[in-house]
Order: sequence, then structure tokens, then C-alpha cells
Amino acid sequence: MEKLLYTGKAKQMWQTDDPEVLRVVYMDQATALNGKKKDRFAGKGAAAKGISDLVFHYLIDHGIPTHFIKQVSSTEDLVKKCQMFPLEFVTRNVVAGHFASRYGLDEGTVLTEPVEETFYKSDQLDDPFINESATLALDIASHADLEEMWGHCRKVNGLLKPLFEKSGMQLVDFKLEFGRLSNGQIVLADEFSPDNCRLWDLQTDQHLDKDVYRRQLADLTQTYDEVLNRLQNVLAEEN
Ligand code: ADP
Ligand code: UDP
Repeated sequence: MEKLLYTGKAKQMWQTDDPEVLRVVYMDQATALNGKKKDRFAGKGAAAKGISDLVFHYLIDHGIPTHFIKQVSSTEDLVKKCQMFPLEFVTRNVVAGHFASRYGLDEGTVLTEPVEETFYKSDQLDDPFINESATLALDIASHADLEEMWGHCRKVNGLLKPLFEKSGMQLVDFKLEFGRLSNGQIVLADEFSPDNCRLWDLQTDQHLDKDVYRRQLADLTQTYDEVLNRLQNVLAEEN
């Protein structure tokens, strides 16, 4: 019997008959301000899932271990169940969002090297910043685990920056999550979509990510469909 394990801000996680496999349902919902702002957008779930599936396929083809198994419908995937690390791994190539407000910087400044930041995943606490010392002292992850996960993040950035550039988009920043499989392996989990990255049009700097919702700039589903189309076109050319 399938059982709903968790309803998050963008997805539902269902237990399947296989204890090692979850069914992920991408919802037609967007949230901002840690869930305080919430709205429904028809078609947003399918668009976000479409983008995430393309990105995960691309990463798997280039050697990144992930939780992805297969798609089961336009809004649902099967994934390997993980013990998630309660951490958000944020990589920034360009100044934007909280990095701009925290340090009083102009959005759009290209960073001389990528900035790597870790946040403790807790809606209640508003996902506070966490450093390596606290992560080790609280037994959240070991030094070797962190090295492995940041290694994957660097490889993901190296693969996705040029992929998005070919699609006419600048990969400004992104957030990744990792989990551990029952065999101990660490894999990239959760999703990669404009819900958790910033993409700017290379020609116009137009926002092509969740900032269109956060800042009320454009229609969210149309924006995500545009990103999906661009990625599909570039990946079709590559194959
Ligand atoms: P949030 O929890 O931030 O509201 P979502 O709505 O995206 O986010 O919910 C998905 C939840 O499922 C997240 O908490 C994420 O950490 C977790 N998750 C993602 N992939 C897996 C996986 N393979 N196994 C177990 N949990 C996962
Ligand atoms: N991000 C995310 N989930 C979070 C916080 C941030 O996916 O809970 C992503 C966000 O979409 C952006 C990057 O991480 O691509 C950096 O976000 P930032 O710290 O600037 O915070 P924001 O301004 O997005 O709240």
C-alpha cells in the first residue's frame, strides 16, 4: 500500500511497495519566504519536474551518482529512498539574493571564484547558515562526507554552467541536497529546477527562475516552460 510520507513546499513523497523506492509528486504550487507566501500555478509541477529530469539525466551521464530511477508520469518520478543530510549546499557564481543583501552588494557582480555556503535545513529556524565546525560537532556529517558532497557540487557547477550558457542562460546560483542510500553511498537527491537555482537570460538579464514569483515579475509556469524548451533544444542538438 502506498503511504504519503511527507508533503513539502513543492513536492509530496510517497512510500511505495518497495521500501527502498519513493514516488515523488511535483505539485502545482510555489512558495516563498519559507512558505509564508504560497500560490497555485497550473502546469508548474510538470515544468519543474521536466527540467529536473533533464538535468539529472545529464548529470548521471557525466558520472554524478543520484537518487533518480525513472519518470512515471508528467508530474511523478520514482527515486531511491535516502537518509537525507539536513543540509542545503549553495554554490554562487554571481552575486544575487541573500548574498547581495547580507554583504550590501549589487546583484549581478560576477564572483572571482564560486562561493560555497552550507545551510541547516529547518523551516522552523529559517534554514540558518552552518559552518563545518558546527556540522561536525552536531554529528550532521563527517569531514569526508562534506568533502565528497562539495566535490559533487563543484562537478555539477562545471557541467551545468556551460550547459545553461549554451541554452542562453547564466547559472547565477543553485542549491543541492544529498542523501545516503541503504548501502552507504552518498547521492545527489531532491531536484534541480528554477525553484532552487537562479537563471538569467544571457542577452537581457531577464529572470528565468523562482524570482519571477518572489518579485512578481512574470508568469511562473510560462517562465519554467521557457527554460524547459531551451534545455530540450540544446540537449537534442547534443545527441
Ligand atoms: P521542502 O521540504 O523544502 O518543503 P519539497 O517540497 O521539495 O521541499 O519536499 C521534498 C522533501 O523530500 C525534501 O525535504 C527533501 O529533502 C526530501 N527528499 C528529496 N529526495 C529524497 C530522497 N531521495 N529520499 C528521501 N527524501 C528525499
Ligand atoms: N535556495 C533554495 N532553497 C532555500 C534557500 C535558497 O533552493 O531554502 C536557492 C535559491 O533558489 C537560490 C540559491 O539557493 O538559487 C541561493 O539563495 P539565497 O541564499 O540567495 O536565498 P534567497 O534569496 O533565494 O532566499
